[in-house]
Amino acid sequence: MALIVQKYGGTSVANPDRIRNVAKRVARHCAKGDQIVVVVSAMSGETNRLVSLANEMTKNPNPRELDVIVSTGEQVTIGMMSLALIELGLKAKSYTGAQVKILTNEAHGKARIIGIDEDSIKKDLDDGYVIVVAGFQGCDAQGNITTLGRGGSDITGVALAAALNADECQIYTDVDGVYTTDPRVVPEARRLHKITFEEMLELASQGSKVLQTRSVEFAGKYKVKLRVLSSFEDEGEGTLITFEEDSKDENMEEPLISGIAFNLDEAKVTVLGVPDTPGIASQILSPIAEANIDVDMIIQNQGADGTTDFTFTVHKNEMEIALNIIREKVQPNIHAREIKGDDNIAKVSVVGVGMRSHVGIANQMFRTLSEEGINIQMISTSEIKVAVVVEEKYMELAVRVLHKAFELETV
Ligand code: ADP
Ligand code: ASP
Ligand code: MG
Repeated sequence: MALIVQKYGGTSVANPDRIRNVAKRVARHCAKGDQIVVVVSAMSGETNRLVSLANEMTKNPNPRELDVIVSTGEQVTIGMMSLALIELGLKAKSYTGAQVKILTNEAHGKARIIGIDEDSIKKDLDDGYVIVVAGFQGCDAQGNITTLGRGGSDITGVALAAALNADECQIYTDVDGVYTTDPRVVPEARRLHKITFEEMLELASQGSKVLQTRSVEFAGKYKVKLRVLSSFEDEGEGTLITFEEDSKDENMEEPLISGIAFNLDEAKVTVLGVPDTPGIASQILSPIAEANIDVDMIIQNQGADGTTDFTFTVHKNEMEIALNIIREKVQPNIHAREIKGDDNIAKVSVVGVGMRSHVGIANQMFRTLSEEGINIQMISTSEIKVAVVVEEKYMELAVRVLHKAFELETV
């Protein structure tokens, strides 16, 4: 008898018919004798609707109250899913995050899980219930409802699998696995049978939203067996996220690149013509960090005239705040020639553990982009990734030509 956590995303539970279909799949697993914990997202579009509703009340919703509102989407789905399971003759019980209880810190909107009290779930499982848990939510030590960040139901699934020591965590979504890139952008993209945690983490953090970044981190930390599958197809094998050691195939040469990610959520802040003196980077970035704004890429160019240009990227939603901070808190001390923002950018990243043993990936990437006349504005590299910032309108073209250049469509 296996214990499996199955997480179903928004499109998989978008309406009563789809919820019924998911319930049937769960029933098939139960019939095999497995114990099943189901984690569900809100019906697709619902979380966005709830965020807009709050924004109709105020431009700047109080984070505690916003969490009270947006967490309701998942509460509807757990009830609906339990009803569907009961209709099929199964014993089913719904749990909100707080009822479980999934204890988080107090960071509303991006709370981190501190612990899970799995005792009552275990008892219900032993009593033959299918447990249906609301994704994306928990509660802090004071009992306030918290949410885990957009796409956070993946984290709930993986965290429950870790806490319950489940045999597998299955993430059911609207594609049948992890592809070499988003199949909606490159139809020739190919499903990967398996991918290493390290690569999946890099792809997710560079923008592949098929798995939420923190859920992959969690799975790596607690060695949760994680698989991405389609909720619309009958039992395919999906994509298994493996540890590098397990996935090495002696007979096969490792591919250089496993996948390509892209991200349209970043914006660029540039501070032009500042004195090229020690401490300038810290003067610019310290107030940004103090305001809790995450900075991703950073470049600094040395000018011939003793001045430097400093550029960094932040989330698009935070570009205006970052610009205001620089203008108000930093500019009086550094006297930059110009401060400007640009949210018309995209980041495209190629990812692969095979890169470690091969030089020239960056070169091939830059050459491929230049042959298409795509200008590279920023570059960052790690051991298993090369990322570039380009003008937003070139994003799709860049992903397509790189996918071809690295021969990702062929096995
Ligand atoms: P869910 O609502 O089930 O959580 P998401 O929309 O969050 O689903 O994630 C699934 C989507 O991720 C797919 O529809 C696909 O467009 C996108 N995606 C991005 N990159 C990839 C990739 N490399 N492989 C598969 N899907 C990807
Ligand atoms: N419903 C939440 C969202 O839309 C969480 C999730 O779907 O994973 O972000
Ligand atoms: Mg998702």
